[in-house]
Amino acid sequence: MARVNPATGEPLEPVATDDGDDVEAALATATEAFDSWRERPVEERAEPIERAGEVLRENVDEYAELMTREMGKPIDSARSEVEKCAWVCDYYAERAPEHLQDRRIGGQSGAKTYVAHEPLGPILAVMPWNFPFWQVFRFAAPHLTAGNVGLLKHASNVPGCSRAIAEVFERAGYPAGVFQSLVVDSDAANEVIADDRVAAVTLTGSERAGRAVAETAGRELKKSVLELGGSDPFVVLDDADLAAAAETGARARCINSGQSCIAAKRFVVHAGVADEFTERLVAEMDSLTVGDPTEEGTDLGPQAREDLLEDLHDQVERSVDAGATVECGGEVLDREGYYYPPTVLTDVPRDAAVATEEVFGPVAAVFEVADEESAVELANDTNLGLGASVWTEDLDRGERLARELDAGCTFVNELVKSDPRLPFGGVKDSGYGRELGRDGIREFVNRKTVWVQ
Ligand code: NAP
Repeated sequence: MARVNPATGEPLEPVATDDGDDVEAALATATEAFDSWRERPVEERAEPIERAGEVLRENVDEYAELMTREMGKPIDSARSEVEKCAWVCDYYAERAPEHLQDRRIGGQSGAKTYVAHEPLGPILAVMPWNFPFWQVFRFAAPHLTAGNVGLLKHASNVPGCSRAIAEVFERAGYPAGVFQSLVVDSDAANEVIADDRVAAVTLTGSERAGRAVAETAGRELKKSVLELGGSDPFVVLDDADLAAAAETGARARCINSGQSCIAAKRFVVHAGVADEFTERLVAEMDSLTVGDPTEEGTDLGPQAREDLLEDLHDQVERSVDAGATVECGGEVLDREGYYYPPTVLTDVPRDAAVATEEVFGPVAAVFEVADEESAVELANDTNLGLGASVWTEDLDRGERLARELDAGCTFVNELVKSDPRLPFGGVKDSGYGRELGRDGIREFVNRKTVWVQ
């Protein structure tokens, strides 16, 4: 696939792809590597992941610039992403042994009974372009440390990141074959899932890709974890701190130039504060700097690909045709590269595109509701269920709503974010399984029951 820098439209240096022979060799190497890697004690497997964190920190600029070039992430955020990857490496270097300890279960008439956590084998990770380093490290840090080996099929527009990540593991001193990058298309990825040597698959990406991968994994009876899209509600109640809600709301919508699964997408606002909140949100969105992602201080860079920019604008146009009002933004920016401005839509019909589809760009849809009950009803009126955020000065009320929202993670007076220490994942069509924390590392282990009489 011809790749271009989304900030300029200029072609990027080609990256060699892998053919069938390369994939076959990688599978053979992965199998061989697993046989010895699984035998090492977890404390020993935790050593190179700590070194991977050091390699990331030593080369933060190189990796950040690569992300910015391939998918347009503003350079400050790209550096933060590399730092966060180092954090997840540190976390599992320190905590994996504890998370994988045998779990004793008593009460079986004198028998010794426990659950051991043993690795499964080679795991294919199919990953998206939006956080090209973070998504991969959030998979690799726990699962390599658990004794599995990884094969990466990255998104087609970030093959440079894919190769660079494999190099991080090499520089960190991992044995050959414990982590490999495959630059292949999605057909080849499905063949890899079906291969007998592959034990499981994890995919972070769209619902469409999730269904395809789950179908292959299901047919082959292989464990899968799916981290799919989100249409996260950002609920603002009548007693919320509106200044804080609007400032965080704009940031939450525009994180990664709006291209985040857990970006706040639907703003569900109590009628009593709707006008004031909307005014503040528009001001905050307007104050963000859109521009060259290589410049420090840029808040929003380009959208990652031209087709994604076109799809985003089409969603806005269809919503406006359906009756939505544009409060700010709403037009593709007239400059080179694939830029869309921060946009706020109000009067959004419940069946408009921005209400019913995942909106992967800096477009906020504001909905007014009469009371708390209608807020929960509207927030839950989606096939997706990744994250949700609630804003109120009454923490008991916030917590109660947090429990009523259909989502894998809910936050009160904070934006939805992932944290190495906390499980992350969705419900409904946002997928299944969890990443991160103790729950994440236990997704790809055999929880083996051992009974010794
Ligand atoms: P995508 O188009 O679904 O691609 C994701 C990955 O899946 C890519 O590597 C892609 O390869 C591959 N893929 C696509 N179709 C496939 C198929 N039929 N079989 C096997 N693999 C296939 O998604 P994206 O545009 O890269 O990323 C944006 C999406 O990811 C959004 O929906 C976002 O919400 C979601 N996301 C979710 C999370 C989460 O944690 N829940 C985090 C980040 C992003 P190609 O590039 O070669 O097509």
